Amino acid sequence: MLHARSVSETEEAALTVERIDDPASGLEAAIALDSPRLGPAVGGCRMRPYRDVAEAVAEARALARAMSLKLLLAGLPFGGGKAVVRGDPRTDKSPALWAAFARALERLAGRYWTGEDSGTTPADMDEIARGSRYVLGRSTGAGDLGPMTALGVRRGLAVAMRHRFGSDRLDGVTVAVQGLGAVGMPLCELLAAAGARLVVSDLDPARVVRAVERFGARAVPPEAILDVPAEIFAPCALGGVIGPGEVGRLRCALVAGATNNPLATPATALLLHRRGILFAPDFVINAGGVIAATDELEPGGYDADRVRARLAVIEERLDAILSEARARDLPPLRVAERLAERLRAARLAAATGRRAGERALNGADRGC
Ligand code: NAD
Repeated sequence: MLHARSVSETEEAALTVERIDDPASGLEAAIALDSPRLGPAVGGCRMRPYRDVAEAVAEARALARAMSLKLLLAGLPFGGGKAVVRGDPRTDKSPALWAAFARALERLAGRYWTGEDSGTTPADMDEIARGSRYVLGRSTGAGDLGPMTALGVRRGLAVAMRHRFGSDRLDGVTVAVQGLGAVGMPLCELLAAAGARLVVSDLDPARVVRAVERFGARAVPPEAILDVPAEIFAPCALGGVIGPGEVGRLRCALVAGATNNPLATPATALLLHRRGILFAPDFVINAGGVIAATDELEPGGYDADRVRARLAVIEERLDAILSEARARDLPPLRVAERLAERLRAARLAAATGRRAGERALNGADRGC
C-alpha cells in the first residue's frame, strides 16, 4: 500500500475521485483529480490487476498527488491526475473497454488529460483517442514516454552523483536496476553506454534475458535486488518498494530511479537520510515523461528537441533541492515537498487573484 503524501485538510478536500463502472465492457476504473485550481489535471492511465477497487482508488489518490508535485516542480501549468483501470493488461484490454474509458474522459470535458502509464501503451492511447480528445502520448505525438523519462532520470542521476560522490562518471560504477519496462530498459541502455556495470531484475524473465544479452548485465532474482552491493539503486518498477524494513538491506549510497512513490512511508526518507543514502525525489527526477506528453499541447505539436532542452528543469531543480538538503541536513524528499508546497500556494494565490480580477471586471461591466 502506498502512502498519501502529507497534505493539509483543505488540500485533501481538493482531491476528488471519479469512479467508473461499465459492466457492458467490464471497465472498472477510477480517476483522481488533484486540486482543479492548479489547472486541468494531467497524469497517466495505469492498468493493473488491483485486488479490489479500494486498492485501486488509494493508488490513484497517491499518484495524483505525486503528479501535482511533479508538475509544480517542472513548472507546468497543470494539476495532478491519475487514472487506474482494474484488470490484467495482457488479457483484459478491448476496444469496448477503451471506448467506455473514452466516454468517461469526455464527460470530464477537459478536466483530466490521460496518457500512458504502467500497463498501458501508445497503441492504447490511440484507441482511447478514437472516442476522446483528452489523450496525450499517442503514437502520432510523444508516443512511448519511457525513453524521455529515462533520459530525464539519467540527467538527474548525474546531478545526484555529483552531490553524493563528487563526480558523475559512470564508468565502472555499479547500478542495480529494478524493473526493465518502458523506462528501465532504455535507462539501462543509457547507463551501459556510459560504462556502468548493471545488475538487473524483473518479474518477466524474457526482459532479464534481453538486458543480459544487450548490456552484459548480471541478473539477480526480484527478491534479491535490494541487497545488491552497488553505488546506485535505480527503482523502475512499482511503488512502495522501500519501507523502513528495507532501508537496512540497501547496500548503495544513492537511490535514483523512475518509480513513482518508491518509499512506502514518509518516515522512510528520514531513515535513508540517517543511513547516509541520498534519495533523489521521484517526482523531480522522473518528470521527463510528463514534460514530453504535455509538449503535445504546444502550438505546432510535439517537438522532441524542445523536450530534450526542457529536461534541464530536472537538473536545475534537483541541484537546488540537494544543495538545500545538504546545507540544512534534511532529507531531500522533505525539501522537495516543501518547495512544491510553496509553488502550489503561489499558483493558487495567483489563480484566486485572477478570479478576483475577473469578478471586478465583470462587476465594472455591469456598472456596479
Ligand atoms: P512498465 O510496466 O513498462 O515496467 C515495469 C517493469 O517492472 C515490468 O517489466 C515489470 O515486470 C517489472 N516489475 C514489476 N514488479 C517488479 C518487481 N517486484 N521486481 C522487479 N521487476 C518488477 O512500467 P514503466 O512505464 O517502465 O514505469 C516504471 C515506474 O516508473 C512506474 O512506477 C511508473 O509509474 C514510473 N514512471 C513511468 C514513466 C513512463 O514514462 N513510463 C514516467 C514517470 C514515472
